[in-house]
Amino acid sequence: VKQAKQAGKPQVYEPREASAARRRFSIETELRRALDKDQLRLFYQPLIDLKTGKVSGFEALARWTHEDRGEISPNEFIPVAEESGLILQLGRWAMHKASQTLADWDSKIGQQLPLYVGVNLSAIQVARDDIAGMVSSALKSSGISGDRLTLELTESSIVQDPGRATRVFDALKALDATVAMDDFGTGYSSLAYLQRLPIDVLKIDRSFVSGMMVDPDSVAIVRAVLSLADALGMSTTAEGIETVELATTLAALGCSSGQGYYFAKPLEAEAALEYWASRNRG
Ligand code: C2E
Ligand code: MG
Ligand code: MG
Ligand code: MG
Repeated sequence: VKQAKQAGKPQVYEPREASAARRRFSIETELRRALDKDQLRLFYQPLIDLKTGKVSGFEALARWTHEDRGEISPNEFIPVAEESGLILQLGRWAMHKASQTLADWDSKIGQQLPLYVGVNLSAIQVARDDIAGMVSSALKSSGISGDRLTLELTESSIVQDPGRATRVFDALKALDATVAMDDFGTGYSSLAYLQRLPIDVLKIDRSFVSGMMVDPDSVAIVRAVLSLADALGMSTTAEGIETVELATTLAALGCSSGQGYYFAKPLEAEAALEYWASRNRG
């Protein structure tokens, strides 16, 4: 804006900025309303065991179809939810919904399915919510056991307050849950935390995975993460597998599991269960 003003034509830039701010503000207002009216949905993206090709779990991902604006990406509304504090409500909703979906799948099939569900936790939740209390209440109301949950945390949840993060991670382990470090390699945390915190899974960020076919540096980074995980006794999940080549390459490099459009996009609960049934049984 400053530069534009100096150039003598502020109108060119200011309206666009003003409308971005307006959109952000109305997204916040409308997200609050959508949460209160229970209008968000949770989709489930299959996680595939790269050795066997079977579905081992699903990542729960929030979806919001706005009445007028249509589909709004989580990359837009999650940051707004974080800035406004609505992420606490959204996070509790996602945790309960995902646990209940797993319980519903079990009862539909008539057995405890060998599946886990991954739920994303924002750094804001780690900083401000009682995560362990929220998780145990979701376990209680759905009846599923803690070992069927994977909590996906990001490096930013450690950096702010490592002491608090340690207590949260330990509390999640005490509930038998699996702890995954999401978007690994994109944050600012120290490798020392990998040693200190009870982390079970490293999720390799999509930016490295999608780079693998064109960029030798991405391959080097993925290899390094895989061998680091192996040395520390952690398993690995690669995000953003879009081609069969990536799936076979990552499997050959020893990556334990993967998700991506090559296998399936995030699906509605019912379609996700059907995907599991056709892939694991038929
Ligand atoms: P994430 O946790 O890293 O989730 C993986 C994202 O990669 C998802 O985007 C998924 O749809 C996308 N993805 C998976 N495979 C592929 C692929 O092959 N190609 C491409 N292009 N994309 C792929 P999505 O659903 O748009 O979510 C974006 C981010 O929003 C998530 O990244 C997560 O950080 C956040 N998010 C979504 N739902 C929630 C939630 O319930 N709670 C919190 N705290 N964050 C959420
Ligand atoms: Mg995630
Ligand atoms: Mg991720
Ligand atoms: Mg990501």
